Amino acid sequence: MKIFVFFLLLFFSCGPDVPKFDENRAFGHLLTQCDFGPRNPGSEGYYACLDFMVKEFEKYADEVIIQEFSYKDPRIRKKTHELTNVIARFNPNAELQTMISCHWDTRPVADMEDNREDRNQPIIGANDGASGVAVILELARILGENSPQIGVNLVMFDGEDMGIPGENETYCQGSRYFAKYPPIPLPYEAINLDMVGDKQLHLPIEKYSLEFNPELVRYLWKRADDLGLDAFDMTPQYAIYDDHVPLYQIAGIPAIDLIDFKYPNPYANFWHTMDDTPENCSAESLGQVGRLMVDYIYYRENQNW
Ligand SMILES: [Zn+2]
Repeated sequence: MKIFVFFLLLFFSCGPDVPKFDENRAFGHLLTQCDFGPRNPGSEGYYACLDFMVKEFEKYADEVIIQEFSYKDPRIRKKTHELTNVIARFNPNAELQTMISCHWDTRPVADMEDNREDRNQPIIGANDGASGVAVILELARILGENSPQIGVNLVMFDGEDMGIPGENETYCQGSRYFAKYPPIPLPYEAINLDMVGDKQLHLPIEKYSLEFNPELVRYLWKRADDLGLDAFDMTPQYAIYDDHVPLYQIAGIPAIDLIDFKYPNPYANFWHTMDDTPENCSAESLGQVGRLMVDYIYYRENQNW
């Protein structure tokens, strides 16, 4: 009887096993993307990265969907960008479907640079672009090798970062198009990852997320605490207009955003500068976010949704 109680305790204290998120493999994906060069729409790096992501998804997913669309740039008359969202589906016939997304394009201009001459240069986007993709590609491998009980949709949005500062509607083109013309049945909820590779990762609660899906926010930050993921901070700090906003406002998907907007810290900012490079990112940071996402997929499915 005592032994039985012991095992029962052991079972409940550890919970069911979840697969291991390989942070070094994820960081390798971040480096691969940066090696392609800047990935702003139309660039050489952009097409190389698109090809790379599709091939990775095809290795593991049950279904890969390419969603192509055009976007007219309001800054340049008659300039149209041909953009592409990429979606990988796992267990697409399950009744309960969730979604984890990020943007894969990088900003065409380093407009936050102190150095004026560099402000027209495209950024390498190690954190702002490559970090979310890196986590999601490692999740694709895990999902391919460990079939989930729920349906999981991994989504790479294009055209998030071509916007004009202060004009929200010029940002998030991929999520906007996805929300208007959903290529998959609408998921139960969605988690967007953006700027999750910062070496000094600090993830407070983003305020729109708290408004759109307070239950999921509380669940994830509490779980992060249980797992000892110290980058997560339960204080709500800033509201960022990111891909979760069109998902919620246009399609009604209760979406949240995991974002570290203070890159690297409150006193310096590499955001939209030439310093957004792999040296300022780390495998450990990708690992914290990746572990939480794996836990969300495989541990939460045993709880009551
Ligand atoms: Zn950005």
